[in-house]
Amino acid sequence: MNIDLKGKRALVTGASRGIGEAIARRLAGSGATVLCAARNLEAVHAVAESIRAAGGQAVGVALDITAPDVRDRIRSLLEEHQSIDVLVNNAGITDDDLFIRMKPEAWTRVLRTNLDSAFHITQEVVKKMIRARWGRIINISSVVGMMGNAGQVNYAASKAALIGFTKSLALEIGSRSVTVNAVAPGFIRTAMTEVLGQEAREVLEGRIALRRLGTVDDVAYAVVFLASEQAGYITGTVLNVSGGLYT
Ligand code: NDP
Repeated sequence: MNIDLKGKRALVTGASRGIGEAIARRLAGSGATVLCAARNLEAVHAVAESIRAAGGQAVGVALDITAPDVRDRIRSLLEEHQSIDVLVNNAGITDDDLFIRMKPEAWTRVLRTNLDSAFHITQEVVKKMIRARWGRIINISSVVGMMGNAGQVNYAASKAALIGFTKSLALEIGSRSVTVNAVAPGFIRTAMTEVLGQEAREVLEGRIALRRLGTVDDVAYAVVFLASEQAGYITGTVLNVSGGLYT
């Protein structure tokens, strides 16, 4: 299957590192022009530059998805770049604690970043998609949103809510050929998991059917597929990329 995203413009939030960076690289590798967004402008510039050096098309964009003027920022991006055909709501944070000790600030910070931002950004971006009768919205959730995880009540709630968001919006705008899907990664090898000791890693891997942590590209390929023309009949779904950690 040849995925060709030439002529499509994608906005990826949280593209300065980790999973978002991989998504940006793979979308660009399939021909899309990618707006790589995050707070750290230097980092997104570097990602965009290395995508361009590899022959792709990308622009680094400074964007704080929790800023009060995030809607204005998205509107100016749309004016500047005409359209966003593929939106990947990827940026997300954790602020873990046992529920009994969890500070209201930690609850609010995680929900604002992981959930409220998807509402604000998607609402701005989707209008043009509806008018164009084509669009792909991909929300990066987590298997934790479905299975729960001790110490992550705020994070799990935000990721579960993103799934409800995905399914409901899919029903509202399916008639306009705009698809809305979620990708739910399991344990992915990132800077965070790299520092785990051998024993902790083996315990983690023992819980995964495929007996390995996922890579950022495992997630990115799933996103590229959902962004493709070929995935045009898939909407309102959650694609688990967890190696069988959660089935
Ligand atoms: P990282 O912490 O490596 O990267 C997070 C990204 O989000 C960075 O680019 C960061 O950039 C950006 N970001 C954070 N806050 C904001 C903000 N307020 N405005 C704009 N950008 C922001 O995370 P991962 O790559 O590991 O995770 C990416 C997504 O995948 C998240 O939604 C996460 O919940 C989800 N996920 C990750 C898993 C894993 O194992 N890693 C498992 C399941 C889901 P900057 O700081 O420059 O703004």
